[in-house]
Amino acid sequence: MRIEELPTPCYVIDEVLLEKNLEILNGVMKRTECKILLAQKAFSMTTMYPLIGKYLSGTTASGLYEARLGYEEMGKENHIFSPAYREDEINEIISFCDHIVFNSFSQLEKYKEKVLHYGKKTGLRINPEYSTQGGRSLYDPCAPFSRFGVTKKHFRPELLEGVSGLHFHTLCQQNSDDLETTLDVVEEKFEPWLSQMEWINFGGGYHITREDYDIPRLEACIMRMQDKYGLEVYLEPGEAVALNAGYLVATVLDTVQNGMEIAILDTSATCHMPDVLEMPYRPPLLGSGEAGENPYLYRLGGQTCLSGDTIGDYSFDQPLKSGDRLVFGNMAVYTMVKNNTFNGMSLPSIAVKNKDGEYHIVHEFSYSDFRMRLA
Ligand SMILES: *Cc1c(COP(=O)(O)O)cnc(C)c1O
Repeated sequence: MRIEELPTPCYVIDEVLLEKNLEILNGVMKRTECKILLAQKAFSMTTMYPLIGKYLSGTTASGLYEARLGYEEMGKENHIFSPAYREDEINEIISFCDHIVFNSFSQLEKYKEKVLHYGKKTGLRINPEYSTQGGRSLYDPCAPFSRFGVTKKHFRPELLEGVSGLHFHTLCQQNSDDLETTLDVVEEKFEPWLSQMEWINFGGGYHITREDYDIPRLEACIMRMQDKYGLEVYLEPGEAVALNAGYLVATVLDTVQNGMEIAILDTSATCHMPDVLEMPYRPPLLGSGEAGENPYLYRLGGQTCLSGDTIGDYSFDQPLKSGDRLVFGNMAVYTMVKNNTFNGMSLPSIAVKNKDGEYHIVHEFSYSDFRMRLA
């Protein structure tokens, strides 16, 4: 298939670009001997798990179903963190996961015996209370009153028996300078207990595959914890694994005017790219520019009834017309895992662009996917 033949809307994962990211991550693993896990919450495209598993150490999960997915579909090292585990799920979680990270000493006390009994590892999430995100509290686990991780004040060293690792996750789309200063604080607050651990998990939020990412500084951070405390270091990036490795292809359905030109697409920000509204961000759109860059400016919006269902303002060389195709970039991460059928919108098809430049569809959705979740 050629790209023009794909049904729209359609997410397209580019195998070459994904593998390029994986090679970068694998380079960090090789040079430092750290382990890197796929945070499935960002990207759970199981079709690509065999490829991802060739390069990374395994998966990490945020809950039971993701834990099962990683176990069944990749079958490598499988970790989990959740702010609290349900009693009716913990047995299955233990069966699927190798490392189970707890968010509090009370959760640890409740489940530790069981985890150790089954030969699995227990970890504890700490909160270094060191914000580096400049006030974006939606994505800041160190924001005041955060529910994530044990703070220094509530840390209880007498309950650490059986705990083999510590976990922190404080970053979001950040560079390694912020990791470096975070590690300073982790050491300052938790140093006495670091050398009694076997491993440390640095969490996610690393934009390692972004062009300007300072990889040598990241590697120095990893080696610092290995050399100083003899720790095995884990990273669990989500976004970095498939950053810029996918597209969303959409079609223009109509153009209308109301103070400016507006194009209605067969895709939707709120249904198919919810982070455009939540994050928020403006996705790149191939062959377009910012307002003012090109002569024809359009506000791009979806078919839903939500007034704010707009993707952004983009300018073009030519006027848009019904039937034109648009290709949004960076649509692999936090899209397929977050999309929804609000307003009865259909879900985008999922396709792969392989190494020969050919496109093939791996999944198409229908009315039944919408109906299934309603009762
Ligand atoms: C979100 C999250 C990740 C992955 O974050 P990215 O920003 O996608 O790299 C990893 N670990 C934990 C605990 C998370 O909450």
